[in-house]
Amino acid sequence: MISLIVPSYNEEENLPVLVHRLMSIMEAYGAYEILIIDDGSTDQTRFVLRQLSQAYPVVRYLSFSRNFGHQMALRAGYDHARGDAVICLDADLQHPPELIPTLIDKWREGYEVVYTVRRPDPRLSWFKRTTSRNFYRLLRAASNLNIEDGAADFRLLDRKVVDTLKSFKENDLFLRGAISWIGFRQCRVLYEPAPRYAGRSKYSVRKMVKLAAMGITSFSTRPLYMSVLLGFAMSLFASLFGAEVLYEYFFTNATVSGWTTLVLLMVLIGGVQFILIGIIGVYLGKTFVEVKQRPAYIIGDTSDIDETVTKWQS
Ligand code: UDP
Ligand code: MG
Repeated sequence: MISLIVPSYNEEENLPVLVHRLMSIMEAYGAYEILIIDDGSTDQTRFVLRQLSQAYPVVRYLSFSRNFGHQMALRAGYDHARGDAVICLDADLQHPPELIPTLIDKWREGYEVVYTVRRPDPRLSWFKRTTSRNFYRLLRAASNLNIEDGAADFRLLDRKVVDTLKSFKENDLFLRGAISWIGFRQCRVLYEPAPRYAGRSKYSVRKMVKLAAMGITSFSTRPLYMSVLLGFAMSLFASLFGAEVLYEYFFTNATVSGWTTLVLLMVLIGGVQFILIGIIGVYLGKTFVEVKQRPAYIIGDTSDIDETVTKWQS
C-alpha cells in the first residue's frame, strides 16, 4: 500500500483538483490512500476535505486545531500514514503528481529514500530563488549536513524510514536535515516544478526565517564552538601585543604610567573569557545533542538475527 500525504494550509481551491489528479495516477497501483493534513486552515479547506473524504474512501484527513506549520503537518502525516511507502507533496500542484510513478519505480528498485531536487525555475521570483539558495548555503556551512539546493519536501520514504523518523523525540524536527542524517539507500530524482495552481504562497517571510533558524540550530552546534576559536585568536593577539607593550615599557619612555598594566589586563582577560565561554558552549552543545535523544545509530538491514536465535533454541 502507498500513502500520499499532503500538508495544506488554506488550499480550498487546490485540493479537489489535486485529489482528482492523484486518483487518476494512483489507479494503476491498487491499494493507496491520500492523507491530507489541514494545518489549521481558516478558509473552507476543512469543509472541502469532509466532502472529499465522504465521496472517495481513499481520502483521509486530519485537521489541526490551529496553524502549526508545514513541518508539523508533514510529521503528523508520517505519524498517521499506513502505507509501506509514504510520498509527501504540496497541495498547490507545484510538485507534479506525474512524477509519482518514477518515485515508486525507484522504491521498487530498492531505494528507501527517493528525494527530489527541483530544476532551477526561471518563473520563480528573484526573492524566492535567492533566499532558497542562500538558505542551503548557510545550512551547509553551519552544519555537517549536505542538502542540495532545491531539495524540498517532495519525497518517497520506505516504511522503515518512516518508523525511524517517528522515533525522533525532538519537538522541532527539521525533516530535510533528519532525512539526510539518517542515511539508508537514497536516490535523487530531478523534476521541473510547476507554477502554483491557485492561491498565494503560504510560506510567509516569517515562516521562512523560522524554518532557516530551525534547520541550522537543530543540526549544528558549530556556532557554539566559535567562541573557542575567537578566544584562541584573541589570546594569540594578546601575547604578541603584550610583548610589544612590555618592550615599550622597558626600553622606551613613550608610555604613560599605568597604561601598560591596563592594556595587558584587558587583552589577556578578553582572550581567556572567550575561551571559557567557548568551553561552556561545547558542553552546552553536548547537552543539546543529548537532550534530543536521537537514536545513536540506525540499522538499515539485518540478516534477521532474531530468527536465527529462535531456530537455535528450538
Ligand atoms: N503549508 C502548511 N502550513 C503552513 C504553510 C504552508 O501546511 O503554515 C503547506 C501549503 O499548504 C503547501 C505546502 O505547505 O501545501 C508548501 O507551501 P507553499 O506552496 O505556500 O510554499 P512555497 O511553494 O511558496 O515555498
Ligand atoms: Mg508552493
